[in-house]
Amino acid sequence: MTQLVRDPVLARPVESLEEVGPARARELRVLGIGTLDDLLNYFPRNYQHESSEGSISILHGDDIQTARGEITAVNYAGGPRPRFMATLDDGTGKLSLVFFHGAYLRTKIHPGMKIRVQGKLKFFGGYPQMQNAKWHEVDDETPAVAEEKFRAIYPATAKITSDAIARIVQANLESALHGIEEWFPEELLKTRGLMPRREAYRLIHCPARLSEAIAARKRLVYDELMVMQLGLGLAKKMRDGRLSAPVLRVDKLLDERIRKRFPFQLTSAQQHAIWEVMKDVGSGQPMNRLLQGDVGSGKTSVAVYAMLVAVANKMQAALLAPTEVLAEQHYLTLTNLLKDSSVSIELFTSRTRRQTRGQMHKSLANGKIHLAIGTQSLLQEDVEFANLGLVVVDEQHKLGVRQRATLKSKGLSPHYLVMTATPIPRTLALSYFADFDLSTINELPPGRQPIETRWVRAAESIKAYEFIRSQIERGRQAYIVVPQIDDSGDDAKSVLSEYDHLNRGPLKGLKLAMLHGQMPADEKQAIMSAFRQREADVLIATTVIEVGIDIPNVTVMMIDNAERFGLSQLHQLRGRVGRGSEKSYCLLMSEGQGDATVARLQAMTKTNDGFEIAEMDLRLRGPGEFFGTRQHGLPEFKLADLTAETALLQTAREDALELLANDAKLSRHPALRAALTAEFGDDIGLSQVG
Ligand code: ADP
Ligand code: MG
Repeated sequence: MTQLVRDPVLARPVESLEEVGPARARELRVLGIGTLDDLLNYFPRNYQHESSEGSISILHGDDIQTARGEITAVNYAGGPRPRFMATLDDGTGKLSLVFFHGAYLRTKIHPGMKIRVQGKLKFFGGYPQMQNAKWHEVDDETPAVAEEKFRAIYPATAKITSDAIARIVQANLESALHGIEEWFPEELLKTRGLMPRREAYRLIHCPARLSEAIAARKRLVYDELMVMQLGLGLAKKMRDGRLSAPVLRVDKLLDERIRKRFPFQLTSAQQHAIWEVMKDVGSGQPMNRLLQGDVGSGKTSVAVYAMLVAVANKMQAALLAPTEVLAEQHYLTLTNLLKDSSVSIELFTSRTRRQTRGQMHKSLANGKIHLAIGTQSLLQEDVEFANLGLVVVDEQHKLGVRQRATLKSKGLSPHYLVMTATPIPRTLALSYFADFDLSTINELPPGRQPIETRWVRAAESIKAYEFIRSQIERGRQAYIVVPQIDDSGDDAKSVLSEYDHLNRGPLKGLKLAMLHGQMPADEKQAIMSAFRQREADVLIATTVIEVGIDIPNVTVMMIDNAERFGLSQLHQLRGRVGRGSEKSYCLLMSEGQGDATVARLQAMTKTNDGFEIAEMDLRLRGPGEFFGTRQHGLPEFKLADLTAETALLQTAREDALELLANDAKLSRHPALRAALTAEFGDDIGLSQVG
């Protein structure tokens, strides 16, 4: 986060600071520290305990130890690892000192000299040793170091050490602190148990106790989270106030007509989500809603309902899927559902011929097409809609946060519904998705049985294939997912070689099909629809079938080389089965070792709960990874660790909303307001007022 530099003191360039010459200034700038403010916000990554001065006989490990005594012997060893050695004696015991590359010390440290040393202790054969200790010459008048201290350890480089940074911070801290203003009312800080902002900056850099550093960090993390939550809150308000969206209405008759199209009764969770969506789209302001629900919970029906309401209101709707296979499936589902209705649906994929495509674009622009289904390609092509009222995005984090802005309608802003089957962990939902309203489908359609997941070792693979055979004898089907298409990569299983191997060996006599991403699009579709018609028993595939595929008759998902897949990915793959009323199974084939692999595979066998899985995945991988790559627009934090800060994040969210409810433009919080303006610029509409 770029920090606000309002105070002229904080804006001082590093070149003008105490203890900083031109060389140091260059090194600081390499670390991204250009001003005093940057320096103040360059936080320690850790602390080290420095004990008070003690006798050599009672020195112990772990912390930084301090001792003084007389040098009784010195020695120098040359060779490839030259080192200078000395013995320090204080009457209670002897401490051996080793200085690697210490040739220069031969003229500096000599027997009879009194020095004080500071460093970490090691024990060799019971004898204490300090390597590369810090040392000073002392005499009997030099006072003992009586105070225990926590020394800040800063992220350093080869050119500038943590100690050097610490010295610079110390020398400039007091003047910097004058520039720090309080952001929040005392009352709030008191209820939240937070220290003043200025105090927090002081104590994060030089705490007397670890507890002080922890409390200081908590306050500054709170500030980071508050800035984000306030920014998101203001942005949402501005959007709500400024944009208007088509009002989509549904009456009893329309509601009944739509419901009748589904071959099942909607679950109460689905109904509830539909109700929330309808409230949004009827409000006249653009809906921005995240619909989250575990795999197989029936999110599509909610989206279909909303799209049909849009069409009944004479508006168009667009459905965006992350892959062509999934777009085609949605197209299939919808055409099926809308048989003999007047709704016109079109599928836009890379397969659509150029000529036809031009015609289709025209039909979108003049409103002949009511429902457009496609992938990102629909976004990339500068498509024009006659009256786009609703955009549904399936599996949003695969599609990318940024692209959502690209689909524009002439005139009004469309409503926006984002579905995700990879549940967004609570912490992320509260942060990155805070400007979305959240609907959750927390119930599976009736009759579903929990999927049984087993970790299968190679030695048991024959049994696993026999099991697949037995399921197929009962009329079921199976997926087998492997990591790669052919054997060109490494020794992981591949679609091509497994197809061959299984055909000839373990699954001989069954009808096998294969599917992977490098096949032409129409071949893929042909294979999927054949499999859907049960023309094959087993589909061997790459992760092209990871997301969204819905064939309820498939009851086995075997994932080979399961150690190659991430936890969320495994859960997504598993979600391809268990979609009908038959009991389903997930077989994880892996010889995987290593803590992380074992943790992932065991988690899979223990829970079917997507939220638990997602939380764990987040812990194992961190938020950047969770989203594939770091995506544009996601804030980065200096201190806050979103995987650990759920409670404080929740607190900050509540406080931010309350603050904005009482002081919408933050006119009673000038320092905070200036900070937000510095952070977000005009995007949050604060600059428009006085
Ligand atoms: P997801 O939330 O993973 O996108 P889908 O929308 O694909 O789930 O639905 C999963 C399966 O459940 C589909 O086969 C769908 O037809 C079926 N389904 C959805 N809602 C219900 C319901 N209320 N009752 C029975 N089956 C349902
Ligand atoms: Mg889905």
